[in-house]
Formats: sequence, C-alpha cells, structure tokens
Amino acid sequence: MIVLSDIKLGNKILVTSALPYVNNVPHLGNLIGSVLSADAFARFMRINGKEVLFVLGTDEHGTTTEVRAMEEGLTPKELVDKYFVIHKNIYDWFETSYDCLGRTSSEANAKITIDIFNDLYKNGFIIENTITQLYSEKSKKFLSDRFVEGECPFCHALGARGDQCDSCGKLLEPNELINPVSKIDGTKPILKETKHLYIDLPKIEPDLMKWYNTTKSKWSNVAVGITEHWLKQGLKERCITRDLEWGIKVPLEGWDNKVFYSWFDAPIGYIGITIESIGDEWKNWWMNQDVTLYQFMGKDNVPFHAIMFPAFLIGTKKDYKLVNYLASTDYLNYEDKKFSKSKNIGVFGNDAKETGICADVWRYYLFRVRPETGDTQFVWDDFGSKVNNELVGNFGNFINRVVSLDEKFFELKKPKGSKKELIESVKPLIEEYKNLFTEARIRDALIKANEISALGNKYLQDKQPWITIKTDEALAAATIAECIDFSKLLAVIYYPFVPKGSEKIWQMLGEKENIVNVGINGAFSGVREETKLTKVGILFEKLEQKSIEEFKQKFSGERK
Ligand code: ZN
Repeated sequence: MIVLSDIKLGNKILVTSALPYVNNVPHLGNLIGSVLSADAFARFMRINGKEVLFVLGTDEHGTTTEVRAMEEGLTPKELVDKYFVIHKNIYDWFETSYDCLGRTSSEANAKITIDIFNDLYKNGFIIENTITQLYSEKSKKFLSDRFVEGECPFCHALGARGDQCDSCGKLLEPNELINPVSKIDGTKPILKETKHLYIDLPKIEPDLMKWYNTTKSKWSNVAVGITEHWLKQGLKERCITRDLEWGIKVPLEGWDNKVFYSWFDAPIGYIGITIESIGDEWKNWWMNQDVTLYQFMGKDNVPFHAIMFPAFLIGTKKDYKLVNYLASTDYLNYEDKKFSKSKNIGVFGNDAKETGICADVWRYYLFRVRPETGDTQFVWDDFGSKVNNELVGNFGNFINRVVSLDEKFFELKKPKGSKKELIESVKPLIEEYKNLFTEARIRDALIKANEISALGNKYLQDKQPWITIKTDEALAAATIAECIDFSKLLAVIYYPFVPKGSEKIWQMLGEKENIVNVGINGAFSGVREETKLTKVGILFEKLEQKSIEEFKQKFSGERK
C-alpha cells in the first residue's frame, strides 16, 4: 500500500510509540508492537541524519486504573506512581532511546487536553446527551465500563467487561451487557438517567475524510483495512466523559462529578508528554507542518490514531500536526498461546532481564519476528536458532574473525590498502535498507542488514587472507583493511536493532565521534589507517539448548 515515490521526508521526524496502560506489566508482544518498533525507527532516522523527537509515556487514567487500584488497596495516584517506575525500568533496560518520557496524568496533559476540548466546544463539535446508565444504589455511583461485568450480547461469553468483550473483541457499552453485576459491590445495578458529553464525529467527518484520502497511501495495510472498516460503518457521536474521580475534570459548570474518558486524553498525551519534557519547544514539533509524524502501535490501537485523535485535532481548527505514517503491527503470540500474566504464560518485560540474556539479543529476535504482515509467534527454539545462526553466526562471527585475523597478522593495527570495494559494492543494498526503514518495515530492514553482513563473510571466505598472507602480504593487508572498513558500516546499520553491540564495535574500531553523528553516510569513509583496534570480547552470547529448555518450561504456564 505504501508508495515509495510519495515519501518525501523533511528534516524533522516526530516518532510516537502507543502509550502502554500503566496498570500492568507489558509483555514482549506489547513491546515489539509499539515501544521497540518506535525505538528502532527513531534510531534509524538519527543515523540517517534526521533530527528526531521520540515520544513515549504511560496511559494512566481510566476505569482500569481505578479498578486495579481498588484491587491492590491503593489510591489511583499511588498505583500509577508504582507502575510508572516499573514501566520506565523496562524501557530503560531494553535500551529505549526516548527523547520525551512522560505520563497522561501530568498537569501539562490536563492543560492541553482542556485547551483542545475548549476549541472543540467553541467550534460546535461537542454535544450533550442524556442517557440512562447503570447505577449502583449501594455505592451511590454510576458504573462506567470496567466497573460492570456480564454476559456479552454478541458471543454470550461470561465475564465481558462494560467496555469490551475479551472473547470476541467487540467494543461494548455497559448497558448492552446481559445480567450486569457491579464490580465494586457485587450488586445488580439499576438504570438511571445522567448527562454526558459527546464528540460529534459525523460533523467532523467531511474534513477528516479529506485529510485521510491524502495520507492513507503511506499507511500499513493493517491500518488502512481497520480504518476503512470503521469508516464504512459510518462514524457516530462518541461519549468523551465518564463518571469517575480519577481523570481530567470537565472544565464546564455543573460537570463536577465527571472526567474525560481516558481515550480522549490518552492520544492528546503525546502532546502533553512533549510539553512536560521540553516546554515551549513543543510547538516546533506539534504545530509545525514541516515535521513528518510516524506513529507506532499494535492493530488494536488503530481506530484511536486513524480516526479519533486526528478528528480531535482537526476539530480545533488549529494547525496541529496530523499523522503522516501510521505504522501498525499484527499480534505477536507466545508458543501458539496468548500472553497471560495471570496464567504465567509468556515472557513479560521484567522477566526478560531476569533470564540473564542481554537486551540486544531479545531485541534482535523481537525485530526478526516483528508481526509486519500477519500475526507471528515467539518460539523459544526459533529464538535459539535465529540468534545462534544469524546474530552470532553471521554478524558477530564476521566481526570476530576480522579482529582475530588483524591481531594475528597485523598486531591489531588497521593495515594499508583498503580500496573500499566491498563497502562500495553494497551501496544499492544500503539504499534498499533505508527504503524499508522509511516504510517502517523494520523486520525486512533487519533481514536486509543480515544480507549485507553475509556479504562480508563471503568476501573474507573468497579472499582467504590467512592463505594469501604467505605469498602476498600486501593483498592480505588490503583484504583485512577492507573488512575493518566494512565492520564500521555494519556497526551503523545494526545500531537500530542492537545498539549495545554496535557501540562495542565502535569502541573496538577506536572511533571517537558518536556513532549517531557519523551515521550511514559517514560510515562509508571507513577507518583511519594505522588505527589500533581494541579487543572488546564476545559481542553476543550464544543461547545454549539447555537454557532454552529451562525457559520454555518456566514461562509455559505449566507450573508456578
Ligand atoms: Zn463477546
């Protein structure tokens, strides 16, 4: 669906990762769907010479938070403070290179949410409706979405929540549940009248469609499919308020007991988090049409980014930046199952660290099986074979061979004579790698990097400097010098995927300048002759079959 000729990037690239709900620990599928994809992409754009702002944070409002806080015996604020730290530690451990990290519960986000609401209100896009809603007489409280559970009206699964049925995935209104029960007090709720605010999406639709038709050619197939399914059904007015205490208060008189529904302030959170992090500079990104905006998310988040968030911004009639490239993924499943914290199935962000396997290795495999064209699986045996054969056996092996040969024959000094024929020969492949990244096809870009690295191994195998050294030392020197130059290029192109490994190679090559500042173009200049290389040890550890079996068992859900 993406048309390459349409892609004309400006110099400023704004990147967002879908904001994970703060009230649980993200699993590997969540991480690759948004956070890590956005990270690799941001890193690529930096080595591609662009100015990047990568925005990441946590979605903290909503009934889910209130319900979870109730279960853990905490206030909502205490709950989100606790989980924010857990999230931040996970993102840091996975080497996420965010420029802005923040929270939708910040003051900055409340302020910008209210600004946007006021503009929508002033422009006539907010309407008031009186509805009947489930109400607990015992707790004297209206019960919004997750505060009620019951039978799904579509698939008749029990335990469907008031906002969504997990069995069939349909979005629900609490009133639609069959036999609803209050989660707060276990009573059967009654129906009672109350008023709510709605965003008038049908009224914004013509302008939304105009914008959508100019931009959709650059979205992923999944994103276009989901968006068009929604548009075909026709946009409806959607309620943007909730009967909760935890949230951003509606800034109108007589609305004291209502807050904005979290899906209203969560996407606005990208802007709020930017303001929280860089202050007034935010306008250079979010109100600047020279910026190119890429948004990364799992497919469940597409409607909010393709329809809702753009509709809010279009409705302000201000010059907000709208998404250019909506990069959504399918789902990563776990060994033919769904990730489940409660059943102990699958690897969650905090578990990854405890396995003792380094972040680069996790990142490598997650990018390698990134669900770009359909759902994919995390499979331990596949993890082992891809890491051992590709990351260690191809990329790591090339670097190690080059250093060992250079040590053996040239005392770790870069010899003379590189004609840069190897590095020049891969220029067309580097262009393909750049195009794949520009289309947000991160898995395919990694496969392309592997293809480039394999050419290094082939070159070394064909030239056999360990043999030519006996008859023609200058030729052997030139071969090894070529390979050292090539190592520099590989370090840069693998940097979006395995940043720690790339930085190690950088250090090994004695490079003083930051790898990002040198970038892809700079890497073609190669390494200065006579540079003394530094040995940095093993780049990536092999995964042993014994530990793979242990982890497979540990995260299978079969024992606690
Ligand atoms: Zn259902």
